[in-house]
Amino acid sequence: MPVTPFHLGPGMLLKSLAHDRFSFLTFGISQVIMDLQPLFAMLTGIGPIHGSTHTYAGATLIAPIAAVISKLLVGPMLVYWNRNFEGPDWLGQFYTQVSAPVLLGSAFIGTYSHIFLDSMMHADMQPFFPLDYANSLLSLTDAYSLHIYCFALGIVGIIVYGALRFVRGK
Ligand SMILES: [Zn+2]
Repeated sequence: MPVTPFHLGPGMLLKSLAHDRFSFLTFGISQVIMDLQPLFAMLTGIGPIHGSTHTYAGATLIAPIAAVISKLLVGPMLVYWNRNFEGPDWLGQFYTQVSAPVLLGSAFIGTYSHIFLDSMMHADMQPFFPLDYANSLLSLTDAYSLHIYCFALGIVGIIVYGALRFVRGK
């Protein structure tokens, strides 16, 4: 299913460890962009479900696009959040000046991790196309377990992130 939130779990853990050196919003935006083509194929019946977007080559091209879109969205979204969030400081007040290397790096981590995780679930993927037509990661684990792992990483990430910000008092 396109745009499944399980992709966000590992990203949340990475955010908890890297803080301002990683943009979780950019990571999330890249997940959505990656799954636009499968969503289109599902809705229209045009093209394969996991086409060229679900290859490492496709992910390499999509990451800079995701970074540019994020550049337009992330700053204003964080400013809005910081202004309007009324909960505790450690759940708000995000750093809003996200640099270009952080945007680009987060987008690449987003698109490549998307391919890596999807490769274990979708038999129609050819992640290394055009170099290799096989999907060697398929059946490394089952989809249910993969979702559990990703969910668990997300929970750990939220706990670590909240705990570190709470301890630091911001
Ligand atoms: Zn996907």
